[in-house]
Amino acid sequence: MHQSDAPDIVVVGGGLIGVLTAVELADRGARVVILEKDDIGFEQSGRSVAAINLPGGDVNAGPRSMLRLTAEQWSGFEDRWGCGIDLNDEGWYIVVADAEDEAWLEIERATWHSTAGFSESQIMDAEAARKRFPQLEGPFLALDARHGGHVDAVMVMNGLRQVASRLGIEIRCGTMATGFQKRGEAITAVETNAGSTACGTVVVAAGLWSPYLCDQLGLHIPMQRVRAPAVETGPLPPNTIPGFLRGATFGARQNRNGTIRVTGGYRFSAMLHDLSLNDLRDLRIWGPALWQNRKDVSFRFDPAGLKAEISSAIARRRAGEGQTVVPQGYQPPSNPRDRYSQLRALGELIPAVRGARVHRSFSGVMDLTPDLQPVIGRIPELENAYVATGFSGHGYMYGPGACYALSQMIVEGATTIDLESYRPERLRTKMKMREQIF
Ligand SMILES: Cc1cc2nc3c(=O)[nH]c(=O)nc-3n(C[C@H](O)[C@H](O)[C@H](O)COP(=O)(O)OP(=O)(O)OC[C@H]3O[C@@H](n4cnc5c(N)ncnc54)[C@H](O)[C@@H]3O)c2cc1C
Repeated sequence: MHQSDAPDIVVVGGGLIGVLTAVELADRGARVVILEKDDIGFEQSGRSVAAINLPGGDVNAGPRSMLRLTAEQWSGFEDRWGCGIDLNDEGWYIVVADAEDEAWLEIERATWHSTAGFSESQIMDAEAARKRFPQLEGPFLALDARHGGHVDAVMVMNGLRQVASRLGIEIRCGTMATGFQKRGEAITAVETNAGSTACGTVVVAAGLWSPYLCDQLGLHIPMQRVRAPAVETGPLPPNTIPGFLRGATFGARQNRNGTIRVTGGYRFSAMLHDLSLNDLRDLRIWGPALWQNRKDVSFRFDPAGLKAEISSAIARRRAGEGQTVVPQGYQPPSNPRDRYSQLRALGELIPAVRGARVHRSFSGVMDLTPDLQPVIGRIPELENAYVATGFSGHGYMYGPGACYALSQMIVEGATTIDLESYRPERLRTKMKMREQIF
């Protein structure tokens, strides 16, 4: 039953996408409740490297894209929402070390020019780059410099939590959405492990677990889950790493406290694929690309992950048809060894990093769609159910624009940017995984 005191909108998921969509909706006058099975930012959003693009130089030809809107939103984020995010706008630097990197960059630049909001970039040869960044002592051919930087993912999520409470959004942590009540083509309530919550509209922003909820809403999202390990060194002197530095085998940023966070590179992301029951779904889509990328993706067996998945499947069966139960409190395994080779490669370029000790090692699991594009929009055949998920390792790069546009769609019925390529309907066409997994 839809009660008069029911919230206008229930958002499932308290990650960057769920909370930011909720605050955008509340800013447009909606009453919103967020259901989060763990805690705000517990899964991908709090573990992110959070490298972003920022405005600068020429804008891309054509209408304003989601990437451009996102870049603009990040640069005005602290002013707009009144919370600190530790915005680093020192730039985004791609290290070109050999002919293979050069060939990759040539292909990548074509995509960059057609999709980025601000496509300007500057190629610096090694001499010019060393003049500007003397810390880059090791061998390389060139640097491709772009407008960008990074934000602090934990500060973003803490800040958004405060913005949400200022806007009167109710956040229910520890509450798992398990199903939906429907009347005709409308969702009337969201079922949870703590009873049902009536709603006028529902938004599924449940990251890795969105496919299970969307299955119940008649939308199948083929999603692959891959684990991205990360390590953090102890503090090093300021300016050891300029902005966000991405090499073929490593990605690195320096935090305000001097620690350096290291992840995978642009040609060799060194993702880990934990074998799971989920792999049996859509193997036809993933199989060929996984095989193609077999040198880059390592297959692992994570007993804890598999156990969580099996208990969820049993709980689902017990709860009955149409009930979703997903793992809670899951910490993907992490081992500093997974990133030693990236740290070594970074140390060859920047000797100051050599010998740095790993102080922290953690992992996050990413939600990849076959075309590596997010799924954003109204769920087909339903009047009042929306989805925003599958950000494929780029949630910070797309998030603020995506959430702004989705809230416009829900409240105003139209968006000021084109969301056509992210429509859920595309998932109903025959899809093949993009060969370049990341
Ligand atoms: C190591 C790492 C590095 C990254 N680096 C970058 C980067 O440099 N730049 C970039 O742009 N992106 C990066 N990303 C990706 C980015 O962090 C994600 O795309 C983004 O955080 C996704 O946000 P989300 O809200 O969709 O998902 P999540 O943060 O996963 O949030 C989904 C939330 O939904 C909750 N939930 C799920 N099911 C239910 C349910 N049934 N009921 C209630 N709650 C539920 C979950 O507990 C979770 O909190 C990185 C990710 C990782 C892991």
